Amino acid sequence: MAKITSLKQENSFYIAEFDDTIFRPSGGGQPSDTGMIKSSSFFGEMFEAIKNNGTIAHKIKPFDGKLNIGDEVELILNEKRRNLLTRMHTGEHLLFKSMEHFIKDLKLDKVALDEDESKILVFSKEITWQDLFKAEELANMMIRENRPIIEHLYTKEEAAKLEGLRIKIDRIKEEKIRIIEIEDFDYSACSGTHCHSTKDIGHVLITRFNSTGTGSYEIRFKVNVIEDLYEMSKITRELREVLMTDDGKITATVKNLKDGQESMKKQMRELAKSAADKIGHELVKDIKFYAKEFADYEKEILIKKASELSKEKSIVAFINRTEKTQQLIITVSKDLSHDASSILKQVTSKFNGKGGGKKDFAMGSFTATTEEVIDEIRKLI
Ligand SMILES: [Zn+2]
Repeated sequence: MAKITSLKQENSFYIAEFDDTIFRPSGGGQPSDTGMIKSSSFFGEMFEAIKNNGTIAHKIKPFDGKLNIGDEVELILNEKRRNLLTRMHTGEHLLFKSMEHFIKDLKLDKVALDEDESKILVFSKEITWQDLFKAEELANMMIRENRPIIEHLYTKEEAAKLEGLRIKIDRIKEEKIRIIEIEDFDYSACSGTHCHSTKDIGHVLITRFNSTGTGSYEIRFKVNVIEDLYEMSKITRELREVLMTDDGKITATVKNLKDGQESMKKQMRELAKSAADKIGHELVKDIKFYAKEFADYEKEILIKKASELSKEKSIVAFINRTEKTQQLIITVSKDLSHDASSILKQVTSKFNGKGGGKKDFAMGSFTATTEEVIDEIRKLI
């Protein structure tokens, strides 16, 4: 039981201090504990414990009853959450040290722990999956070895002798420093909650990483990993079948496909450009009429080409057949009284299409043969 020593109301919350608390406030990247507050005349949820000038304030949402100064209440910790955060926190110590082994310029920025997926924000020139896979392997090897996790209280002088100690010395006000050791592997000054040995962490799985700017990265990881591993493995097994290759070659195969697609696109664009260069015209009532069918061209190239051609007493009609639709692009040179949008409208209404535009440019789709559409436009000129 704990006694309420200070109490105020903020909106629909109580802010309470107790003579003693089991709730750990947020700090060092570990979010606050949560739980319930209970007495014979009150029931409420403890949302957040907050450090407040040497005391700890508790944000409480009442469900039933009222609180008063001097009340004796029962504090109930959400142990499932505390346990997950403890495993995450210990996993973070282990994973960061493991990454340091393979990423030589690695520096810790900050940590954001979460029950499901936590984040480590770091500085480094370059991080690759290859480095992270090695770090993950090392971390999981340390877990299998079940190394003890030991809490030390050292003076600043003693702490200074520890090689590779992670510490933000300017932030430490206490005489004795609490140092967490993963036996013979890692030393870190820390006030959070930790497992007793590495096996309690479970597993470490880096789920994703991404650059957050020049020389900085966000690395995400989980400690409950089995479901994620099965999900990821589904993708691998499906890809193996689609690509008809072995697991080890999936990445290289996809990279090859991507490169191939890029170069094909480039070639298509060049081809389209050269083909569109040679477009003949007929004269319809003294107007140059350019009409041509294309198969699956880049729309932008055709629009550009059409507007280039419609300089002087000319009308252009390009039909682009793609897998899904038949596009019609119409341009009219400015010196003519014809209206591209009204030509398009008459074509699309006749051939079950839609679209729109302006006097000199219109675009839409239709369902008919190329000849039918071109004949129709010719009649409208
Ligand atoms: Zn810690």
